[in-house]
Amino acid sequence: MNHILQQELIDVAYIVAVVLFILALRWLSSPATARHGVLAGEFGAFLAVIATLCNYEIIEYKWIIVALVVGAIVGVPLGLVPMTAVPQRTALSHAFGALAAAMIGIAEYYVRIPHVTKFEMVEIALEVIIGSLTFTGSLIAAGKLQEILPQRPITYRGQNFVSLSALGAAILIAIWLMFHPESARLFPVMVAISLIFGVMLVTPIGGADMPTVISLLNSYAGLSAALLGFVLNNKVLVVAGALDGSSGFILSVIMCKAMNRSFTNVMFGAFGQVQASAAGVKEARTVRSATAEEAAAILGAANTVVIAPGYGMAVAQAQHKVRELFDVLTKRGVDVKFAIHPVAGRMPGHMNVLLAEADIPYDRLLDMDTINPEFPQVDVALIIGANDVTNPAARTDASSPIYGMPILDVDKARTVMVIKRSMSPGFAGIDNELYYLDKTLMLFGDAKAFVGNIVRELTGGAH
Ligand code: NAP
Repeated sequence: MNHILQQELIDVAYIVAVVLFILALRWLSSPATARHGVLAGEFGAFLAVIATLCNYEIIEYKWIIVALVVGAIVGVPLGLVPMTAVPQRTALSHAFGALAAAMIGIAEYYVRIPHVTKFEMVEIALEVIIGSLTFTGSLIAAGKLQEILPQRPITYRGQNFVSLSALGAAILIAIWLMFHPESARLFPVMVAISLIFGVMLVTPIGGADMPTVISLLNSYAGLSAALLGFVLNNKVLVVAGALDGSSGFILSVIMCKAMNRSFTNVMFGAFGQVQASAAGVKEARTVRSATAEEAAAILGAANTVVIAPGYGMAVAQAQHKVRELFDVLTKRGVDVKFAIHPVAGRMPGHMNVLLAEADIPYDRLLDMDTINPEFPQVDVALIIGANDVTNPAARTDASSPIYGMPILDVDKARTVMVIKRSMSPGFAGIDNELYYLDKTLMLFGDAKAFVGNIVRELTGGAH
């Protein structure tokens, strides 16, 4: 096959891959089409890789095969982590993607010097700076989420000044290299500063903000891939990087809005630091608790029940038991709906994915803005492993770290029941007023076991 025809076929494959990436993003935005979205994205990526491997400029495949095998050895176990570990797994993928982009940029610089045009140098420098800081930043984010590193923000006086000066120094070196690309000794200094800046960028941010940071790092990784596309003159990389970068950015904006936080507050607010002092002023207060038998009686007698799931349902893997509860109550004529908070769990869409896995009909899943006005008419709000997203302090306590975050108005339901194991706080580390209301019953236990017990009570032991 001649080279022109081969290149044309590769270009066609790239166009199909790009269309599949765009469709994947479109389809992933609804639970009903999300599976198609995943398949379209996977097939697009497969096509793009195969087309790239057909490039006639490849001299030998030996090292490519070695890299594929090493990548698969690392990648396959990463794909098998539990759903609750997906945020840190995603951070690791960004770290690897960004490292690859930075390393290719570094290689391109050394292959091309001293014949690097100003434009090429800008592309390479930006890609290497963003790739390097995303690599170390993502590793720190993954470490914090996995609790290998301390979750609390680590700060010191003048931190923002020091961090921004480091970034400024890397940019100054990049500008110098634009005019003097032959100053090869400065290049590794720029890389080292960028790597250090990535650490400085993420250490002052608390664990509770890590999912937002990860989606921001996702957008940086996309940006560095797009820049790499310019360096290598590879159009599919430019488009895929741009899609990745912009979707990551949009997701970060959505998460900030759902928590009523600004970008600056997430990046520089050191959220999570005030919690220690807030926890210190605890007073002994009483709560009312109930058994599975009592909870089953109340649920069975209700006309409308709204289930508000959260992180605890995910950890306990209780979604299938929740499905059984949904079936049993629906059969009895109870109107059961699910209230989905945009940041319930540890990643956006976490609850939708789990409930879809348990085949709960999508039309029963209502987002926060739709369900909130209905709560005053709801007989029972059943909270399963959710905490922060139901905390009324977000509406009333201006000193609370979550003040202003939109919440599920479960406290407006006639009766509130909360399944959790103890009085421990949720992710934001703060007490929840909801538990002390007269209308609230605490159902202490593991979510999966407790929901199972309620189902057993309702079915007279048939489950
Ligand atoms: P949460 O506030 O973290 O509370 C989860 C609750 O689940 C805990 O209070 C815990 O209490 C309970 N729990 C844990 N394991 C359990 C088990 N096996 N069985 C029963 N209960 C269990 O969760 P959330 O209400 O879903 O709120 C999410 C938090 O993450 C918010 O602060 C949000 O801002 C933050 N966040 C989320 C995202 C996102 O994209 N989803 C992004 C950024 C930040 P016990 O220990 O007493 O059982």
